[in-house]
Amino acid sequence: MEEITKDAPERSLNFIEEIVEEYIAGGGKELQTRFPPEPNGYLHIGHAKSICLNFGLAKRYGGKCNLRFDDTNPVKEDVEYVDSIKQDIKWLGFDWALERYASDYFEQLYDWGVELIRKGRAYVDDQTQEQIRATRGTITEPGTNSPWRDRSIEENLDLFARMRGGEFEEGSRVLRAKIDMAHPNMLFRDPILYRIIHASHHRTGDKWCIYPMYDFAHGQSDSIERVTHSICTLEFAVHRPLYDWFIEELGIFPSHQYEFARLNLTYTIMSKRKLLLLVQEGYVNGWDDPRMPTISGMRRRGYTPAAIRAFAERVGVAKRDNVIDLGLLEFSVREDLNRAAQRRMAVVNPLKVVITNFSNCSTENIRCVNNPEDESAGTREVPLTREIYIERDDFMEDPPKKFFRLSPGNEVRLRYAYLIRCDEVIRDPSTGEIVELHCTYDPQSAGGGSSDGRRVKGVIHWVSVPTAVEAEARLYSTLFTKENPDDCAPDKTFLDHLNPESLVVSRILMEPSLASAAVGETFQFERIGYFCKDADSTDGGSVFNRTVTLKDSWGKQQ
Ligand code: ATP
Ligand code: MG
Repeated sequence: MEEITKDAPERSLNFIEEIVEEYIAGGGKELQTRFPPEPNGYLHIGHAKSICLNFGLAKRYGGKCNLRFDDTNPVKEDVEYVDSIKQDIKWLGFDWALERYASDYFEQLYDWGVELIRKGRAYVDDQTQEQIRATRGTITEPGTNSPWRDRSIEENLDLFARMRGGEFEEGSRVLRAKIDMAHPNMLFRDPILYRIIHASHHRTGDKWCIYPMYDFAHGQSDSIERVTHSICTLEFAVHRPLYDWFIEELGIFPSHQYEFARLNLTYTIMSKRKLLLLVQEGYVNGWDDPRMPTISGMRRRGYTPAAIRAFAERVGVAKRDNVIDLGLLEFSVREDLNRAAQRRMAVVNPLKVVITNFSNCSTENIRCVNNPEDESAGTREVPLTREIYIERDDFMEDPPKKFFRLSPGNEVRLRYAYLIRCDEVIRDPSTGEIVELHCTYDPQSAGGGSSDGRRVKGVIHWVSVPTAVEAEARLYSTLFTKENPDDCAPDKTFLDHLNPESLVVSRILMEPSLASAAVGETFQFERIGYFCKDADSTDGGSVFNRTVTLKDSWGKQQ
């Protein structure tokens, strides 16, 4: 046990870990889990939770985790999704033991369908899916038997073979289990095992025109892979008895299913169907739009795998549905980037400052610390000149008491450089707008001191005018304005809660070292937030995504 838990953080076990530890204590061996995405969309933060859980358990307890694509619906699935899913899992820092597809098992699953027919446990039903739905009954009333329920085994075998052979139209027949049309669990009322779909499959092509249903594919696929702990979300709890029923009827490896609460986040939707709609209808710019809750979107935005893993760990594993505050995810991102991201200076909303006693033709290189949290990140030089930009918000002509930044007659420190005092405010004569400040600096105040030992509280960031590099900044807010975007009036949908200001584009002026930043690199722009260079950058100009803001201490005080 020592060995196994050594790199796990100090915390109490979650209930799934308790189950696994009991299994091991009871002599259970070869812990096997799997992550089973349907390749019908990109992975999102909810999947990340499931990935961290399944791969994390295997890692912690010396087991294995397979990646299994649940590719039983050819109409909605695509290799594009398969590829993105593999990339995202690897990026998160996990590797699967085996890469498998439910479609690898189509022949075996078909044989099991035949086996159930032979045992008198399945039959071909000529009713339409609508008729089948209409005769299922309700929770309080039993369903009615299909007129085709008592077909002979021979006839069923013949029809099922001909279904496979492509003789019948889509929707004309299904294979159903013969269980009990009055069963209290509605899923046991002769569930559909196979349906006819005449569509090409991304792996099996046109080999098959009948496809197994989830309930007939999932448990058996687990069993084939000797999955010991099949972990899924709570809505599948009601499927568990059926999962067990097939395994028992077929007498195959006894996989077991365990359920945990799915991850829900405020201001976020996670249904793949809805995310697909956002992409298809152009509400966002693709699956990897940095506002999307997808792993690819978060990667592009500058979230790190370590931050997402830490978030998943903090969320824990719950037995009951709940909603997690988006702030917790952002906290995890800040925490990781604070440790890892290099600091740079950039100004979002510039106000020009002329340092009147600074020589017009000289540049002084100011030594700046790259990351106060990590000495090994070293230092860099940033040029200081007579003309600089500061943030417009860092100046107030008529400041309230606790405003420690620049104001007329007051001093502030330029980050890593000198104290400057504001002597004069220059306005545009026609509009009255402040266009420039005239300041003087204290040449004795380099490196935190001052000529007479006076102390100044405020420190502001700055960029030198002649060397400033302009870039596009994409400032993101939540994609939805409502904590629960799905909580709608009857005539509204989640689309009515889209935030029109979820993306604000702004010009920023950056210190020259950022001209050579690489796509995907993340920085802390001092006092502003974390920013990641976007792939839309060209030789003509860089684009930076705001990954997450810093906490605004001034905003908090007010
Ligand atoms: P959707 O209904 O949006 O298509 P899904 O659950 O069907 O999502 P899958 O591709 O089938 O998506 O999911 C793969 C695995 O990820 C499943 O085991 C599923 O339970 C898990 N998963 C999906 N969404 C979440 C979530 N929000 N929180 C935790 N686990 C999730
Ligand atoms: Mg699914």
